[in-house]
Amino acid sequence: GKVLLTGGTGFIASHVLDCLLDHGFDVVVTVRSHEKGQRIVNSIDEALRQHVSFAIVGDFVKEGAFDEAVMTDPPFDYVVHTASPYQMHWEDPQRDCLDPAIKGISGILTSIYRHAPAVKRVVFTSSSAAILNPPNHPKVYDESSWCRVTQEEAMDPVHTYRASKTYAEQCAWDFHKSHPHDFSIATINNTYTFGPIPRSLDSLDRLNTSNHRIRDLVQGGMRGGVAPTAPVFTFVDVRDVALAHVRAMTAPEAAGKRFYVVGGFFSNHRLAGIVRRRFPQLEGQLPPAEEDAKDDFPADHWAFDNSRSKEVLGLQYTELEKSVVDTVESILAFEAAG
Ligand code: NDP
Repeated sequence: GKVLLTGGTGFIASHVLDCLLDHGFDVVVTVRSHEKGQRIVNSIDEALRQHVSFAIVGDFVKEGAFDEAVMTDPPFDYVVHTASPYQMHWEDPQRDCLDPAIKGISGILTSIYRHAPAVKRVVFTSSSAAILNPPNHPKVYDESSWCRVTQEEAMDPVHTYRASKTYAEQCAWDFHKSHPHDFSIATINNTYTFGPIPRSLDSLDRLNTSNHRIRDLVQGGMRGGVAPTAPVFTFVDVRDVALAHVRAMTAPEAAGKRFYVVGGFFSNHRLAGIVRRRFPQLEGQLPPAEEDAKDDFPADHWAFDNSRSKEVLGLQYTELEKSVVDTVESILAFEAAG
């Protein structure tokens, strides 16, 4: 089978790419420049490299931005759309986050609808941000929950990202309802994701947002004290997220479903404790040891129900300790390679 994977430079996409190649797919990744595409192809084992190529898709906001990329011979069987801005500082929330998130998914669905009739399924990387509904948390979250964020709140940079994911996912389901077509949709609503950094990364300064706190711990950024964990206390390992995408692409029962992909709980104190125990050489970079006991994990934290992801996608979630250790090792290896 042949897959179009958008946002190839991304942290999650880099693992989706590895997982797709492991499963024997041919993959075309979309990137914003030739240089980025070449870095990705070069990061792949030589034996598998013939199965990867890239297409340049510039500005998502342009009408028909994906038209050329979706038309190939042989045609694509599947599309995985991961590309979307994920950070927390926006100069212009509309231009820098909401537009690319929403026009990205609506644009690619439109291009598939018009030009790629062989596509059987589209998997969209949504987020737990489209599920969680602060401050009105239920006792247990599952796929039935939707974030309710107003257009007005969306313009406040604190809320822009979760609004972008919520509106983008809504847009995917609305498109699907209103356009008669042969492809189905599934969404992965993963929570805060840790895991090994992409081999194609060019600088730790450009590391994806959810790995920042582990990078900061390793680099001494919390020497003076553990940063507050809030507002996120759930994590998932990126390799589980990648497998979720691949299974959601092919499992017949995954069609038309969202999947809340969450592996467990964490706090920054627990991250520090794990790094201290497993990487004694980093002690000098870490917060004072007595801080580990002051865990800020809230006693009344809501629970999560990830049973659909286990039943339909067969996920077996990676433990926090393994996820953190593998992330730290990948950061140390990156630093050592200079
Ligand atoms: P990264 O920042 O590593 O990747 C983001 C990707 O999106 C990059 O490939 C980036 O391309 C691309 N991108 C961003 N903005 C644009 C734009 N305006 N036009 C074109 N491409 C763009 O983040 P992650 O891998 O963590 O995130 C990937 C997806 O997963 C996102 O949809 C995110 O919302 C979602 N997600 C992430 C979670 C996490 O904790 N990491 C949790 C839940 C969901 P470039 O390199 O060229 O900038």
